[in-house]
Amino acid sequence: MTEAKKVIKRPRGKARVVEGKCIACGARCESSCPVQAIEMTDAGEPAVLSDKCIGCVKCVKVCPAQALEMFFTPEELKILDEISKQSGAAELEEELDPEAKALAEKLATYRGVWVFVEQTEGEVAKVSWELIGKGRELADTLGVKLSALVIGEHVEPICLEAFCYGADQAYLVDGVQFRHYRTEAYLKALCRLIATYRPEIILMGATGMGRDLAGAVATVVGTGLTADCTGLAIDDKRNLMQTRPAFGGNIMATIMCDKFRPQMATVRPHVMQMGERVEERHGAIIRVTCPVREEEMLTRVLAIIRDKNEGHVDVAGAEFIVSGGRGMMGKENFALLHQLAEQLGGVVGASRSAVDAGWMPHERQVGQTGKTVRPKIYIACGISGAIQHLVGMQDSDLIIAINRDKDAPIFEVAHYGIVGDLFEVVPAITQRLRSLKQRPQGAERECVNG
Ligand SMILES: Cc1cc2nc3c(=O)[nH]c(=O)nc-3n(C[C@H](O)[C@H](O)[C@H](O)COP(=O)(O)OP(=O)(O)OC[C@H]3O[C@@H](n4cnc5c(N)ncnc54)[C@H](O)[C@@H]3O)c2cc1C
Repeated sequence: MTEAKKVIKRPRGKARVVEGKCIACGARCESSCPVQAIEMTDAGEPAVLSDKCIGCVKCVKVCPAQALEMFFTPEELKILDEISKQSGAAELEEELDPEAKALAEKLATYRGVWVFVEQTEGEVAKVSWELIGKGRELADTLGVKLSALVIGEHVEPICLEAFCYGADQAYLVDGVQFRHYRTEAYLKALCRLIATYRPEIILMGATGMGRDLAGAVATVVGTGLTADCTGLAIDDKRNLMQTRPAFGGNIMATIMCDKFRPQMATVRPHVMQMGERVEERHGAIIRVTCPVREEEMLTRVLAIIRDKNEGHVDVAGAEFIVSGGRGMMGKENFALLHQLAEQLGGVVGASRSAVDAGWMPHERQVGQTGKTVRPKIYIACGISGAIQHLVGMQDSDLIIAINRDKDAPIFEVAHYGIVGDLFEVVPAITQRLRSLKQRPQGAERECVNG
């Protein structure tokens, strides 16, 4: 025989006004009430209609002056007392706020993690594979599928590549109207996919295309978007915790979108680590047609003209970077860094101070408002290590800092620190590399062994 469990319903009480505390802040309590149980008096103070109040506590929470409180009748207080005494022995029926219940039910209809695989003329942006790696982790935590979202013309091979990087399946929208990226066409395709398959998370690269598309999609579907995330994780309620620098990079903020789906985030290239590519991985391709008519499009791509600027340097993709800051003292001194970079087969980067001073072009800037880099070796010369610089380079495999101030914050992230004058240290390293290269191979080995 099973024993019936004693169920005690927790009384919810009613809100009431605490005399003399209201500061007439502007009817926040009235608008927070889901059942119109608050009316404003001529003095701009609230009056609670007890018969309508459902005890949801919302007005109490929004009041900045603690001018509203919950009130319980003596009978209700007795029940509360009994509950607290029996805590653990009786099963409490936690009545979920009807609004919260409806929200939870709505959110539960969205499942799965999607990564938008960005391609231009069939060439995939590397950040997409980095996001597939991160998406895999999130999908495993949530116990759902990871889907690649591939849009373009003749782009089916990209789906197969996405499987190698870890996607379980791919949604493929393939057609001549998607040959070149155009906001309207891609927006329509993506919104249609979201409406049909309802993913809970969508990740995109924080590239020109990703930023454009993500913003447009989030606006149309009416959800939140966190740009330039540096960390992504799942909380105990299946929400995506989206971490990014805030207030000029002085704090790291974790942002949640707990009332809307899908949760959307963009991530800059090189922030997430690319997962391992496994040739044998396979998945399912779901082909989706999206009737986008050419005559409805406001833009037409006539030609793609590649940047022919010979001087263009890809700092973000470089394996060796020698960066200079305000400590370089002048544009002409960057020649020292170019010489060192040349010996390493790398490129020269810069802090914002150096860029603002006009010593280096903005495309070389590393940091929060510049590029995020992840080279094998990053050499910081005359850079103090402000947080806005660190967020752009702290994930480099090996960091070497040269600074004459032994307390410079850059030494906190550096694997090797050289306290000294960069005008002596940098030429000495360059010279050493040069002479090592000039030695015959055997001698070099001797030198290393010695
Ligand atoms: C919203 C916002 C975004 C930002 N974005 C970026 C960004 O993307 N990237 C970025 O870099 N900054 C950014 N900044 C600026 C950042 O806060 C710092 O001001 C900047 O990084 C400092 O540059 P620095 O280290 O070159 O200069 P400083 O802080 O002036 O440091 C110069 C260093 O050089 C050393 N030094 C001087 N002479 C020598 C010598 N002869 N030998 C050795 N060492 C020497 C000094 O000891 C000092 O540590 C941003 C700021 C804000 C508010």
